[in-house]
Amino acid sequence: MSVTVCTIGELLVEFLAKEPNQGFSRPGEFWGPYPSGAPAIFADQVARLGFGSVLFSCVGNDAFGEMNIARLARDGVNVSGISVLSNATTGSAFVSYRSQAQRDFIFNMPHSACGQLTADHIDESLLDQCSHFHIMGSSLFSFRMVDAMRKAIENVKGRGGTVSFDPNIRKEMLSIPEMSQAFEYILDYTDIFLPSDGELDYFGLNPGRQEQTLVDKLLRRGVGQVVIKRGPRGASYYSASEQFHAAGYPVEVVDPTGAGDCFGATFVSMLLAGSGTQEALRWANASGSLAISRRGPMEGTSTRADIEAFLMAHGG
Ligand code: ATP
Ligand code: MG
Repeated sequence: MSVTVCTIGELLVEFLAKEPNQGFSRPGEFWGPYPSGAPAIFADQVARLGFGSVLFSCVGNDAFGEMNIARLARDGVNVSGISVLSNATTGSAFVSYRSQAQRDFIFNMPHSACGQLTADHIDESLLDQCSHFHIMGSSLFSFRMVDAMRKAIENVKGRGGTVSFDPNIRKEMLSIPEMSQAFEYILDYTDIFLPSDGELDYFGLNPGRQEQTLVDKLLRRGVGQVVIKRGPRGASYYSASEQFHAAGYPVEVVDPTGAGDCFGATFVSMLLAGSGTQEALRWANASGSLAISRRGPMEGTSTRADIEAFLMAHGG
């Protein structure tokens, strides 16, 4: 089966505060609207590498929705699973950075068009084209969305496909009870788990000394491969038979949002296409580093040529 990856979840526009520490409680200037939404960035990155990519989402019948669909279609994503709703507007996110590592969001998601996505919006014949399903934890904000995820898991796994999961935790969303319950369910079906190191304590242990214990627990539970993202320090790979670290690349940080999504998309699709784990991780680090060098969450997705040129410039 050729590589076609399915993602389901939020398709948003993002507005980015121009000043550090600008916040949202006083008038200020923003860049945007930019196409965004973690699963959408992931889907875009898969398509830009030349692999099949199907995104299921909902947008409103408005200019934000039109812009998002046009961008994804231009980049090669199959957009036939995106429904345009007349009774809701396209979701949005406002972002303000405090530092490179810390940022605040105001999301309009559960009450926007993508918040209305249900299992009925997931067309089985489109799912049948997919060999892999990727889940973003940030999408698990409603029971309806979790039902849609369940439908895709059953379909893809039932045909011998695989599932990857990036918890992509946003502190603004942790109080949503659907989310923590769904995490446990999804981990039971996860083949490739892609947390960032800062998210490990949510899964019960601190990074560093106890990391190996957590990874062993996940591998025993049936997760085949664990990749821990470490921002500028790169990423580490774990499976039952292999364990290694790949250093990050020194780049100027323009806008870190979207790095993890591009990283995950590149790692998963390269691996599915037959690359070795070391090469897939190297390409994923390059893809994450390229993402942070561009302003705008989806503006930093890369082609194969972009990544090859980046690796060449950084000594392979
Ligand atoms: P997000 O959810 O914000 O998209 P994440 O927490 O899921 O990000 P990160 O670890 O921040 O994921 O980034 C993913 C990858 O991108 C890293 O493993 C690394 O390869 C690259 N990267 C991220 N930040 C930097 C940086 N400051 N310098 C160089 N590379 C970076
Ligand atoms: Mg992330």
